[in-house]
Amino acid sequence: MQLNEQVFQLTQERFGRSPDQCDDHQLYEALLLLTRRMAEQRPAPQGERKLYYFSAEFLVGKLLSNQLLALGLYQEVKELLAGMDRDLGVIESLEPEPALGNGGLGRLAACFLDSIAALGLPGDGVGLNYHYGLFRQHFVHNKQTEEPDTWLEGENWLIPTGKRFSVPFGGFTLNAVLYDMAVPGAGNETANRLHLFDLEEPAPLPWVGIRFDKGDIAHCLTSFLYPDDSDRAGQLLRVYQQYFMVSAGAQLILQELEERGYSLEELAERVVIQINDTHPSMIIPELIRLLTQRGMSFNQAIDQVSRTCAYTNHTILAEALEKWPLDYIQTVAPQLVPILLELHRRVEEIHHDPKVSIIDGEGRVHMAHMDIHYGFSVNGVAALHTEILKNSELKAFCDLYPQKFNNKTNGVTFRRWLEACNGELTALIDQCVGRDWRRDTTKLEGLMKFAQDPSVLQRLLDIKQHNKDRLCRLLWSEQGVELDPQSVFDIQIKRLHEYKRQQMNALYVIHQYLEIKAGRLPRRPITVLFGGKAAPAYVMAKHIIHLILCLQQLIESDPQVRPWLRLAMVENYNVTWAEALIPACDISEQISLASKEASGTGNMKFMANGAVTLGTMDGANVEIAQLVGEENIYTFGASSDQVITLYAEEGYQPLSYYHRPQVERLVDFLVSPELLSVGDPASLSTLWKDMKSKDWFMALLDVEDYIATKERALEDYEDRMAWAKKMLVNIAKSGYFSSDRTIRQYNEDIWRLK
Ligand SMILES: *Cc1c(COP(=O)(O)O)cnc(C)c1O
Repeated sequence: MQLNEQVFQLTQERFGRSPDQCDDHQLYEALLLLTRRMAEQRPAPQGERKLYYFSAEFLVGKLLSNQLLALGLYQEVKELLAGMDRDLGVIESLEPEPALGNGGLGRLAACFLDSIAALGLPGDGVGLNYHYGLFRQHFVHNKQTEEPDTWLEGENWLIPTGKRFSVPFGGFTLNAVLYDMAVPGAGNETANRLHLFDLEEPAPLPWVGIRFDKGDIAHCLTSFLYPDDSDRAGQLLRVYQQYFMVSAGAQLILQELEERGYSLEELAERVVIQINDTHPSMIIPELIRLLTQRGMSFNQAIDQVSRTCAYTNHTILAEALEKWPLDYIQTVAPQLVPILLELHRRVEEIHHDPKVSIIDGEGRVHMAHMDIHYGFSVNGVAALHTEILKNSELKAFCDLYPQKFNNKTNGVTFRRWLEACNGELTALIDQCVGRDWRRDTTKLEGLMKFAQDPSVLQRLLDIKQHNKDRLCRLLWSEQGVELDPQSVFDIQIKRLHEYKRQQMNALYVIHQYLEIKAGRLPRRPITVLFGGKAAPAYVMAKHIIHLILCLQQLIESDPQVRPWLRLAMVENYNVTWAEALIPACDISEQISLASKEASGTGNMKFMANGAVTLGTMDGANVEIAQLVGEENIYTFGASSDQVITLYAEEGYQPLSYYHRPQVERLVDFLVSPELLSVGDPASLSTLWKDMKSKDWFMALLDVEDYIATKERALEDYEDRMAWAKKMLVNIAKSGYFSSDRTIRQYNEDIWRLK
């Protein structure tokens, strides 16, 4: 049946009317149902071995365009709708964004599933079906407030499977109910699955904000992603979530192994499990438990599991490397404790180095250590990050198991982050280099031929302008923010974290504000855009949001400054906002303290959309710099070696930087009468004191270099043709950062699926 006939039949059946009589909601629903069914009916790719990608987060974003692209129907549907005077973009905008992740790690998992399917590899995701996501962010009185993100209302992408697994907790048992999302492969006829486990009786909406009964595991386990873990009940809930995910997931794996006709002894040959960060690490003792329960010897079970599991490290921030007290595990899953003790004992027996112990002197289980001892692969997510793991953070492990360590530089799917979000640029690229770059994104290098072609360069500038115009309209209609589309768009969008240093960017805004007040105007108006959520219990990050919002209010109400400098913080930054912001960006802010950002993936999306990076030599910025060359990126700041030494020697003194005249007036502005008149004095002065006396992520160390480098970028921006060439080089060299490349490497070095 033709597509238009199928849509017609669906709307007739469901709404008793033809598609052109449907409203946008009805059309959305019809397209969702049609797409979901077509994706669901696709067969799974075949292979000797199957991958299970375990992750606490999958930040998939809106799915309609993505699924249509993968099914090869995107253009047809677009035209069908256009024929009825309707717009796919408008219809998709009605889709609530599935709130199953909080940032880069979850988005990476979503890009990976997209690429695994596109490469036709047999690999499913395994995670949890959070009902209210992280939270929906609003700003009230220049502060973040948190509301439940109710993405599950109405029709959605979940497919009930009817599968149930019983998960034994200490003192009670819960059923894990399995829902799937289909992950169709672009350019082939197969589809994988994202398996999401849920409770049988999830709780209804919490009463106030995102507060709920953290002790009510049977109803609240899947309510929120990363519930506030600032207290014991919150931490315990996270362990409950993790065990629920891995126990149900492990049972699913063994069930599928049997269905495929293999014995338990073939586990390692037929299955590979990628542990995305440490949240799913309990899969190791849980699988050992299930295998021994089914009659396998302990030694054999360890051997099988150790050849099945591979671990991806995402951070070197000590506070983010999970260490659960053994008594938490005793409470949540007591059956794992004897297994953990035995795994620990075996390590102790051979290695007499407390640095590589699984259980430390305080009785805490180091999840990453267990993954490294009892997995066959450990990978970092960018070249620099992997080097830091090997040479400092995990050196003791690397000395033991050098062959386990490998790097897999992150990537993003160009289907979402170029084709779907930047149609005009995609069309220009097609004109220049043909359509083949979709299959092999390194073909984007063909654009280099046009580096001196004024008509192509002018087209790049025009497209950027159109995307900026589009973003301005969206910000105006959605959030009542009015921007000047002729200004430079300087954008920093990512989770709020001190190491990402939004506070340093705020100091730049203060610098520019003071310059304008002193009559020194920039060459062209500047717009600084922020977006990002702070974890509800992360006090310092909330102070930074408050600072940014106060600056926004101050500038907005100042007629002398407003024409030259605008600041806006987008409310509720998510994938959908990223898709509108990134194509409109001129300067991509990637300013983490060197050594702290494992990779970053936002940096890659910006690059592919023709933004020029302003960044430190951190994470994948280092690889971006190598690819584009120093004329096409603005780097600044201390190197990761310098930073690592400063930490090791406790040699960083913020006060000595604060007392530089240029720096002091910027920092002191936090407690100036102007800012205090719009802000909360307690919050601003806490931040001010912290910056002077602690500044753990060394914003003051780099701020002068940062400001000077940004000024240089703004200067260069005025030579429009020279800037357009930088844009072109960035797009041309971005192909390396396709997640298709990353996944090919995972498959060649770790998974070996076919
Ligand atoms: C890509 C992405 C991120 C990751 O951004 P970084 O700058 O790499 O931290 C976070 N959130 C969303 C919504 C994204 O799309």
